[in-house]
Amino acid sequence: MIHVKKAFVIGYPIKHSRSPLIHGHWLAEHGIAGSYEPIEVAPEALPAFLDRIRSGEFTGGNVTVPHKEEAWKLVDFRDLDTDHLKAFNTLSQVETVDGIAIYGQNTDLYGFLANLDQQAPGWNKDVENAIVLGAGGAARAVAAGLMLRVPGRVHILNRTRERAAALAADIVPRRAVGGSLDDFAALAPTSQLVVNTTTIGMHGTRFDNLDLSLLPKSALVTDIVYVPLVTPLLADARALGLRTVDGLGMLLHQAVPGFEAWFGVRPEVTPALRQKIEATL
Ligand code: NAP
Repeated sequence: MIHVKKAFVIGYPIKHSRSPLIHGHWLAEHGIAGSYEPIEVAPEALPAFLDRIRSGEFTGGNVTVPHKEEAWKLVDFRDLDTDHLKAFNTLSQVETVDGIAIYGQNTDLYGFLANLDQQAPGWNKDVENAIVLGAGGAARAVAAGLMLRVPGRVHILNRTRERAAALAADIVPRRAVGGSLDDFAALAPTSQLVVNTTTIGMHGTRFDNLDLSLLPKSALVTDIVYVPLVTPLLADARALGLRTVDGLGMLLHQAVPGFEAWFGVRPEVTPALRQKIEATL
């Protein structure tokens, strides 16, 4: 009898998730007898659900809003490289002498960096100043990733300035400064990289007062919002002749470590996969 490995994505709600399409594509591509199903789990049901990994029913899965912080608290072992993010999106089984335990990691950090590496090789060289717009959950992973790969300073600018200062102190001590979105104009002329991690760009929203023409002509602008694929920020940057990278690749790349952990094959982010997901946006 073939043993079918089962993985999941849980959230509340969950029906908008594109992860089943991504993992379904890789399962078919590699001819693996496995499944990856979206399951709606209410917050109070999370601890009991995670026991279904410990019982061996699921080999692991993804965790999305609103469960990432709680999952970080509930796992048995934490990935040391992403423990400081205090939010996990990928869980997998580990065998121990006491039975099956849960290993947690945050693959958004990896996905963010891998997307830039694929779409804009060399993006991190000579970055004196990087600007991160936003200080929410995704900004934590982005700022931590930039700290690993960018030689210069990371400026976290947020609507709520206090939140930016707290994130800077927590994630990028000494190399980062928190500020408000109004600080963009002063920083822009010496900033080679701008990353939007706020929700602005979704549902027709756009930044008021963000003058991209102040950036150096060589600057790279990237947005982690991927619906729409070309956000107003990216459209404005392109109109000025700046380099841009959209956020879909981050979604695709963050899925790689999970698939490898659950199904034993490291999958690739190919143009065919990208086209398949792009068609759903
Ligand atoms: P979050 O924790 O709720 O943070 C939201 C951020 O947006 C905060 O910094 C918030 O500022 C800011 N914001 C919201 N409305 C604003 C407004 N009207 N004006 C200015 N700032 C505003 O959300 P998240 O989990 O970090 O996710 C943020 C975005 O990233 C979402 O669109 C999500 O889909 C996307 N994302 C993409 C990927 C990917 O793989 N591409 C991965 C993760 C997330 P305040 O602190 O002032 O409220």
